Amino acid sequence: MTDQFDKKHLWHPYTSMLNPLPTFKVKCAYGSTIELEDGRTMIDGMSSWWCTIHGYNHPALNQAVKDQLDKMSHVMFGGLTHEPAIELGKLLLQITPPTLDKIFYADSGSVSVEVALKMAVQYWTAQGKHQKTNFVTTRSGYHGDTWNAMSVCDPVTGMHQVFGSCLPIRYFVPAPQSRYGETWIQEDIQALADTLATHHENIAAMIVEPIVQGAGGMRFYHPEYLRQAKVLCEKYNVLMIFDEIATGFGRTGKMFAWEHANVEPDIMCIGKGLTGGYMTLAATLTNTHMAEVISSGEAGVFMHGPTFMANPLACAVALKSTELLVSQDWQSNIQRIEATLLKHLQPLNDLDTVANVRVLGAIGVVEMKNAVNMAVLQDEFVRRGIWVRPFGRLMYVMPSYVITDDELAFLLTQLAEVVQNQVSA
Ligand SMILES: *Cc1c(COP(=O)(O)O)cnc(C)c1O
Repeated sequence: MTDQFDKKHLWHPYTSMLNPLPTFKVKCAYGSTIELEDGRTMIDGMSSWWCTIHGYNHPALNQAVKDQLDKMSHVMFGGLTHEPAIELGKLLLQITPPTLDKIFYADSGSVSVEVALKMAVQYWTAQGKHQKTNFVTTRSGYHGDTWNAMSVCDPVTGMHQVFGSCLPIRYFVPAPQSRYGETWIQEDIQALADTLATHHENIAAMIVEPIVQGAGGMRFYHPEYLRQAKVLCEKYNVLMIFDEIATGFGRTGKMFAWEHANVEPDIMCIGKGLTGGYMTLAATLTNTHMAEVISSGEAGVFMHGPTFMANPLACAVALKSTELLVSQDWQSNIQRIEATLLKHLQPLNDLDTVANVRVLGAIGVVEMKNAVNMAVLQDEFVRRGIWVRPFGRLMYVMPSYVITDDELAFLLTQLAEVVQNQVSA
């Protein structure tokens, strides 16, 4: 089953080369179905990590790539520009926070986070504030795998132990405890207030995933946290960076998650669903004031420029994917998915192996009391015809928006059975 070349030579995400878990070879994928080389099919619950919002092999997205391919697949963005980058930019400005109007295209989510952190530091150094170079963030966050992105990931579940002293040391405050949809606990903001009061002279920005903390624990927190954090950040001259790489493009029921709190950041990162999962592309957005200050500093420019910046193929498919999203009644569709997730997952809350079930938009999470055996479960999910990849104590799904009611019911029924079997196991 596992391809021997793959097993011997190809590194997979967060995987041992000594004892890799089996991999399943995919022949093709369409809609919400992934078809394996051996002919088995699976209903996809992962959207390839938040990305494939319109499903796989979408005719309109395929066509957008083909059309662009015949013009050019790539040109450097230094000194040149092109229609896909411009048209995508126009559309992004319509759906992102109104004060943000400057776009930096990056080639992956992690890079867009690096760009955001660099923008924040350049903003302060341009004003002679050379001490403001550090960052504050909440625990249980995830912001990517590159050096500085890693430094603001959760220090326990993240990669801090492995990289130890070569990671810059950030200010961490506890993850918000007040859950989305429940009562706000005022104490939640105290640690941030204290940290900012003491260290604001060294802090360039606060970086957070608004409302939904993704890979750091799939936690949904209270919008009031962002509202009060914003007030504190303004009081102490600390910028706010929202990492909307996972939460963007309708996933939480809003186009972007900042809308739950109505708090606008100074800098925002988007990625993942941006190209509908077709290609790697991300962007860092900021406002006119930020851009002017950065550009009037000693450097005179913003110091970043990836080789594949604004890749035309990626921009063309991102434009088509975003057009597709905004041209439909995506809110009702996300509500349809949310209601079905709730219906099937909520009852699992009663099991004594389950710590918590939560649903927001097109994200459904079953948090177990104990860590699950990923190797065993992965195989079981595939045998049952669904693609779900648990981690730690979390079994979760974030299906593509094209999933049909029948497909979604099948996915969730199978998932629920697996969760129930954890009881008797
Ligand atoms: C996935 C993710 C990233 C990193 O994006 P990559 O494209 O994998 O580099 C950063 N922040 C959040 C919130 C993410 O979910």
